[in-house]
Amino acid sequence: MAVRLFAFTCGHVTGKASGFLEGESGTLTVPVPVFLIEHDQGRVLFDTGVNPGVRREKHELLGADAENWSIDLPEGAEIVPQLARLGLKPSDIRYVVNSHLHYDHCGCNNCFPDAVTVVHAREWRAAQRPNTQAAGIYNPLNYDRITRRREIDGELDIFDDGTVVVFPTPGHTPGHQSLRLETDSGTVVLAADCCYLKRTLDDLHLPGTMYNREQMLATLMDLRRMQGEGARIVYGHDPDFWRSVPQAPSPVR
Ligand SMILES: [Zn+2]
Repeated sequence: MAVRLFAFTCGHVTGKASGFLEGESGTLTVPVPVFLIEHDQGRVLFDTGVNPGVRREKHELLGADAENWSIDLPEGAEIVPQLARLGLKPSDIRYVVNSHLHYDHCGCNNCFPDAVTVVHAREWRAAQRPNTQAAGIYNPLNYDRITRRREIDGELDIFDDGTVVVFPTPGHTPGHQSLRLETDSGTVVLAADCCYLKRTLDDLHLPGTMYNREQMLATLMDLRRMQGEGARIVYGHDPDFWRSVPQAPSPVR
């Protein structure tokens, strides 16, 4: 069987363009994507967007990183009300897969206490360190109420049929991971932040900051190989590309 994929835009964030593309000047406003995958055996959410608490407590949630970001999260743009518009409750989600634990990817994790949260073990460990928390890279307030955490260290074929496969894509962070899906229209890879933009992959134009440059390049070469084999890559934060992605309730085809 094939899965159905739905894309949501859960607000936008604006940061330094050089953060996305080394050497660029000015700022870049990018979408915050969240994805819903429907499989016969359950629904999977890939990332959860920004914590709506940022509307009032940006500094508490982003810490030392707060000054680097301006966040536009209109009322109702977070994932829970967007799912409600499709008739879905948080308890309808069986798995939450986090690409990584930066604020714009796990901010609504606590809204899904019944789901199994799938996170890479190296990412979870990195997020526990006092120095990364002090730097504002991670904040446990975004995921301190999840109860069913599943740490993985490699690939995870969620339904054991090859249709929804989590795979490691390190470099942006120590435990970054992406999702490979088999849809009616072929293989789709939800890259997340291992590949911010189309230019990142086409030109190997790396971001200005990352956890490990060599790992990131190896990850991008892996994505290029998958692309060469016919997979469609969905970039993590590409505003131009994002305009071509159908938004829920239309499925991504
Ligand atoms: Zn990130």
